[in-house]
Amino acid sequence: MSDTYQAIANSSMGKALFGAINLPIPVILERWQPGQASFIKGRVLVGAANGSTGIDTVLATLKGAPEAQVAVLANTGNATELQKKAGKLGVSADNYTANREDDAKFKGLVFDATGIQNPDELKALWEFFHPVIRKLDKCARVVVIGRTPEKQTGAARVAQRALEGFTRSVGKEIKKGATAQLVYVDEGAEAQLASPLHFFLSPKSAYVSGQVVRATEAGFKAAKFDWDKPLAGKKALVTGGSRGIGAAIAEVLARDGATVTVLDIPPMADDLNQVAGQIGGDTLELDITADDAPATIAAKAKEIGGYDVVVHNAGVTRDKMLGNMPEKFWDMVLNINIASQLRINEKLLADGGMGKGGRIISISSIAGIAGNLGQTNYGTSKAAVIGMIDAYKDEYAEKGITINAVAPGFIETQMTAAIPFTIREAGRRMNAMNQGGQPVDVAETIAFFASPASQGLTGNVVRVCGQMLLGA
Ligand code: NAD
Repeated sequence: MSDTYQAIANSSMGKALFGAINLPIPVILERWQPGQASFIKGRVLVGAANGSTGIDTVLATLKGAPEAQVAVLANTGNATELQKKAGKLGVSADNYTANREDDAKFKGLVFDATGIQNPDELKALWEFFHPVIRKLDKCARVVVIGRTPEKQTGAARVAQRALEGFTRSVGKEIKKGATAQLVYVDEGAEAQLASPLHFFLSPKSAYVSGQVVRATEAGFKAAKFDWDKPLAGKKALVTGGSRGIGAAIAEVLARDGATVTVLDIPPMADDLNQVAGQIGGDTLELDITADDAPATIAAKAKEIGGYDVVVHNAGVTRDKMLGNMPEKFWDMVLNINIASQLRINEKLLADGGMGKGGRIISISSIAGIAGNLGQTNYGTSKAAVIGMIDAYKDEYAEKGITINAVAPGFIETQMTAAIPFTIREAGRRMNAMNQGGQPVDVAETIAFFASPASQGLTGNVVRVCGQMLLGA
């Protein structure tokens, strides 16, 4: 769908006019393009609080990103130590001395705060970010790494929890399409930082900001994979894949190497065949709420040797204020958006349709986090998706399967095009990017969780909402 306001605001005349009357100018976000490297291109400044343990994985990840020039902030206490670490890992890292007057620009700022033990030591954040935060390039990336607070005690837990407030506030300040994220990592699981660093330091996370991801020990090592085709040899199922976000997910998973089964209801057969044809996938014409749907999906899984990735994307809205809501609206939304998913997961796992290394990813919504007027049925179903992630993460972890949710905010699709104009405009602008996201933004986030590199990420809910004001 097109965003006319954004197009006019970015024209040369529009820029001058909108700027003069202080209207927001939504930046044209830099998204990944075919042929492009997956990392952001430009200078990345790294830093770490004393005693931090994530920095080795940060440096090792950046070593694999020749398009990122690494620099270390020279006027922090442990700069020499960081330089030495970088040298040992074979990363060439310049020294950068912060200077208010210079015109250095940074495409990325990465700070490892895992060593912070109490609120006093949070000062390390100010020391690192204060001199450089105004030097961010357009669509830059900020990543803070912390230690999982729930696994800490006392002052360390307090201080680590504080990183959320810091990162989310930074996300709201930095503008110009820049994003800020926080990754909490368990002690000993630092290698699991590689996947979130790859995603958050890439143009693929263009519309994701203010998010918190938890990384934990994976339990087993993923087989070798290629970062450029991480899903090669994998089989994926995408429900509701004939259009909108589902079609984008199918395309991105196929781009990453997966063979995709695209599922949708029989009336969508033409669109379904078109999507499958474009990506060399196959189709399953099925209503996921049908009594035999779990068995049909499990049989299909058996036929192809099991699914590695299942994306529960099919979803509907049937909006009405609760007092006016017919019973059938309630039943339909709850059945499609959550109950069917539980039945499908149960049958797939019971029948061996998904095994070790499996990925289940479900689409929640900002309405399931913040609630929304006229959407008691939808909000309930999408909060239930978050409940599903929480309820099954431990049981599935024992089987080597991860389960995560992606919660879109305002995404430009047929679903949102149908919203009345004023409500649509409000939804579009009420976020730190002043614009709606694209289906591909949701799809890239799904692909991030689907990657073999994300074995240590489970039980997460990541919003793809440009840091929307609702539910932040
Ligand atoms: P869409 O209506 O364009 O696509 C949904 C697809 O699901 C359709 O192809 C539909 O036929 C299919 N589907 C519906 N019921 C089905 C059933 N019983 N069995 C099989 N397939 C079924 O919607 P979209 O905007 O692409 O949304 C995709 C997902 O993202 C949904 O879960 C939606 O709730 C969620 N979401 C969307 C937005 C947004 O801004 N568009 C925001 C938050 C969440």
